[in-house]
Amino acid sequence: MLDFVYQALPSRVIFGYGTLDKLPEEVERLGAQRAMVLSAPEQVAQAEDVAARLGDRSAGTYDRAVMHVPIETARAAREEARSRGADCCVAVGGGSTIGLGKAIALDSGLPIIAVPTTYAGSEMTPIWGLTEAGLKRTGRDERVLPRTVIYDPTLSLTLPAFIAGPSGMNAIAHCVEALYSENANPIVSLMAEEGIRALGEALPVVVATPDDRDARAKALYGAWLAGASLGAVGMAIHHKLCHTLGGSFNLPHADVHTVIIPHAAHYNRDAAPEAMARLAQALGTEDGPGALYDLAKAVGAKLALKDIGMAEADLDRAAELATQNPYYNPRPVTRDGVRALLEQAYHGRRPAV
Ligand code: NAD
Repeated sequence: MLDFVYQALPSRVIFGYGTLDKLPEEVERLGAQRAMVLSAPEQVAQAEDVAARLGDRSAGTYDRAVMHVPIETARAAREEARSRGADCCVAVGGGSTIGLGKAIALDSGLPIIAVPTTYAGSEMTPIWGLTEAGLKRTGRDERVLPRTVIYDPTLSLTLPAFIAGPSGMNAIAHCVEALYSENANPIVSLMAEEGIRALGEALPVVVATPDDRDARAKALYGAWLAGASLGAVGMAIHHKLCHTLGGSFNLPHADVHTVIIPHAAHYNRDAAPEAMARLAQALGTEDGPGALYDLAKAVGAKLALKDIGMAEADLDRAAELATQNPYYNPRPVTRDGVRALLEQAYHGRRPAV
């Protein structure tokens, strides 16, 4: 029987080439007078361009965003926002920069305008993350959901292939888990399936022909759907495993998602037949998990945990950590099951039907 709960999230999305031009009016629309522009150190030029567009409404740039939002970074940014009298943050960048904006919002309630330049999807979620003493905590709070998201594919044109490929696979992973989520529902499943389709078609073109504007726009469109799916429903074994591997073994975020997703999907293959059918349909195949592996390979991503910094000796501990606390997954999560999954992922073997 069809029964579900669907909770819409209140965010305003503006999509298209050149939409960054609308930023000043969007800041004004929020009633903000002084917007602090956040970025990673590598994207300071983009941040400065954005600040210049804001003119009098700019409270300057702050370019200290780093992966996983260390608490010290969050505290320094909060203090900077206070001392500059900022009443809004504009986060220009990937999940790390948007995460820094969320850390400020969590403390101060300052509204965020997100201008995403990767496919990670954080801009569409009320999920925050903070890392303290080597432990990453996450939580949900509607105050951190960006009020406005400007998706201008122009800004993603500079995303190099080696970041774009795994970043897109990270987005696909949100869609895959949304399809078999505990609180999956018809509208989110439509978005998730369409997200996989868009990213599956666009990513190989993005990495082969980086200046293909249509492919960049399609990938960003898929990323929007993926972020919206992640924000709307709970995740399962894949996200729990990636959280453990990223947090406890310091593996790079998008790469670890890329390596794990074919194996996580394979783990749930028999327990989530409807989700598998939609995944396969979206990728134009009969074997969804295998096609995820092939897509990761086609975009030139690394396919094995051993190639992204994982030590074989740590696999047992990873399996222990990832099964310490129970959580929802279509197929029961067992230590042996996770250990076997990690073994396959460690060697980068294609999941077999
Ligand atoms: P990132 O933000 O760290 O960016 C990766 C690198 O790409 C950085 O060096 C960045 O400067 C560079 N970059 C980004 N856009 C670029 C562009 N257009 N041109 C050139 N270089 C560019 O990586 P990410 O994968 O986007 O985000 C990862 C972080 O986001 C993790 O900490 C993860 O936990 C978090 N995240 C959170 C959520 C959430 O809902 N809270 C969702 C997804 C990811």
